[in-house]
Amino acid sequence: MSDYCRICLEEDALDNLLIPCNCKGTQKFTHKSCLHRWQETTLNNYLCCPERYDLEQVLTCRLCKTKYNSTSANFSWRLLYTSSPLLALARKHTCVLTFGISSFMCFSFWLFFPILFNVAIFSYVVFWKKGYRFKFIGTNEGIRLRIYKIGLKVNELKSGTILKATNMIRDGMFKNSKILIVKNKEEGAVGFIFNKFIDETENIRCGGPVNQSSVHVLHDNPDVEGCEKITDGIYIGGKLIPRPENTICAIIKGYSAWDSLQLDGEVRSGLWQIDNTECACLW
Ligand SMILES: [Zn+2]
Ligand SMILES: [Zn+2]
Repeated sequence: MSDYCRICLEEDALDNLLIPCNCKGTQKFTHKSCLHRWQETTLNNYLCCPERYDLEQVLTCRLCKTKYNSTSANFSWRLLYTSSPLLALARKHTCVLTFGISSFMCFSFWLFFPILFNVAIFSYVVFWKKGYRFKFIGTNEGIRLRIYKIGLKVNELKSGTILKATNMIRDGMFKNSKILIVKNKEEGAVGFIFNKFIDETENIRCGGPVNQSSVHVLHDNPDVEGCEKITDGIYIGGKLIPRPENTICAIIKGYSAWDSLQLDGEVRSGLWQIDNTECACLW
C-alpha cells in the first residue's frame, strides 16, 4: 500500500506517511518531515510579515481547520514559535518600541548616578592597589586634592640620609634641591631642604613648603643640652641660647613632609638620588 505526500507530491509507503489532520482524499497524507518543514516556513513567513500571514496557520490546517497532530520538535523552532507573538508585536509597533526604549533611557539617567558612584569606588580601589594615594590637604589657596604614588620601602631612607633632586624635578621649590632626611617612619618622612638660602650671611635657609613660620636649628655639637641626634655630626635643637662655643649652626625655616611610603615611591621612580657625600655643603 502506498500513497502520495500532499506536500512533496512523492509516492511513498503508508508506513512512512502521516495523517496530520481531518483532510481526505489527495490531501490526506504527508511525510512527517515535510509537515515540519511546512510549519517552519509558515512561521518564518509570519515573522517576516505578520500583517499578511496568520500565526494560526503554523499549527492548523488551512483547509479543514483542525490542528495538526504533529509539530516540529526542534527546540529553537519551538522557542521561536512561543515568542513569535511578541516578536510580531515589536515589528508592528517599532515606533512605540522606540519611544519605550527612549523613556527607559531617560529613566536610567537616574540610574546613572549610582553607577557613577560604583565606578568611582571601583577605580579608587584599582588605583589604591596600584599604589596611588589620594588626600585632601588644606593649603593657602583652599582645599586641594593631592594624588601621589607610594613605592616599596627604600631601606637607605633613614634620618641623616641626603637626597639630591634629579633633573626629573623640573620646577617648584624642590628643583635642584638637596634634602636632609630628619625622620622616616611608618607615618611618613620629614626632611629639610638645606641648599636654598633665605639669608646667606645669617645662614638662614628655607627647609621646605610646610609651615614656613616654624624655625629649626641644625648644629654639629653633640653636647648641646636637649638636642636630638639626626646622624653622626648632625644634631637638631636643644638649648642654643646663648650659643655654645665651637658650634656651627644652620637655621632652617619650614620643612618638607611626605606621607607614608610617598618619598620611597619618589626615590624609586627616580625623582631623588641618595647621595650621602653631599653632606659637606650642609654647613
Ligand atoms: Zn513529502
Ligand atoms: Zn486538513
